[in-house]
Amino acid sequence: MQEDGTNPTARAGEPRNEVVGPLDARLVPRYAGPGTFARLPRLDQVERADVAVLGVPFDAGTSYRPGARFGPEAVRQASRLLRTAYDPALDAEPFRAQQVIDAGDVSANPYSIPEALAAIELEVSGLLTSGATVVTIGGDHTITLGALRAVFRHSGPVALVHFDAHLDTWDTYFGARVTHGSFLRRAAEEGLFVDSASTHVGIRGPLYDREDLAADAELGFRVVHCQELNDIGIRGAVERIRARVGDRRLYLSIDIDVLDPANAPGTGTPELAGMTSRELLGIVQGLAGLDIVGADVVEVAPAYDHAEITSLAAATVAYKLIGLLAMSKPGTEAARPSPSPGAPDVEPR
Ligand code: MN
Ligand code: MN
Repeated sequence: MQEDGTNPTARAGEPRNEVVGPLDARLVPRYAGPGTFARLPRLDQVERADVAVLGVPFDAGTSYRPGARFGPEAVRQASRLLRTAYDPALDAEPFRAQQVIDAGDVSANPYSIPEALAAIELEVSGLLTSGATVVTIGGDHTITLGALRAVFRHSGPVALVHFDAHLDTWDTYFGARVTHGSFLRRAAEEGLFVDSASTHVGIRGPLYDREDLAADAELGFRVVHCQELNDIGIRGAVERIRARVGDRRLYLSIDIDVLDPANAPGTGTPELAGMTSRELLGIVQGLAGLDIVGADVVEVAPAYDHAEITSLAAATVAYKLIGLLAMSKPGTEAARPSPSPGAPDVEPR
């Protein structure tokens, strides 16, 4: 939308179903216009939304470098670079097949993790009730607990696919029970996800304790270790994830530190020998067709970033998630059978 409320959308034709899309980059250059995610309309500029991008500026659950509270704004800024009309890798038009909006930021209490989580849960619940699937932009990983609680209330227990260098299933840290390294144990205790259907992807690096992996497995998780990608590749990882999710409702949580520090330096707890951005996008694209009921991209800490490497990775992953949601909408033009993982991702000009 422009200041006067008009919407210079694609010259290729009027948007279908009266969807209000992002600004057309052929009419308004990408570095101009509103600072919403992908220059989408705000929630108050449309009648209804199918997908809401929600920022959660919060980092009080961090254990090492703070700064993810500035993640949502950095991801929005980097998202200006996206060419939004058509994604050849998914053969989808993510912003034409569905109404996508930027729902702004949750006002999360920086001094009370329980209050912050309650605010996140309330905001996500409201959007879900209104009919929107929520893609949350963090914030440190603690915020996922608030979003998962809301999704649980709305959809029941979900299969969880968790991309991360770290398990995030510690019991406590310095006596704190809810941190970005322990929120998944709390989620397990609350029964928010289906034990037998959940997977960590990209785990690597030394642990605090030899028993950490065994304790994690007791919660039901299975692991696609980052190093296994050397042998099984993108396709093998996708097969293992899909077999475990089955036809269950799925929540996708993506900690940007799943990427190698070369691909994502701007994060709180970087870990060597991670995924390339090509591997991450390939695996995410391979999940097309699954019943995604919620997703997040977290742990972008822009103070440690260089040249928007990390925030662009997070923005692109969020765009892919929105593309997957477009494909899972029955009856939309973008709904198609899943493409082969790692399909060529050519840039339209
Ligand atoms: Mn994490
Ligand atoms: Mn992590």
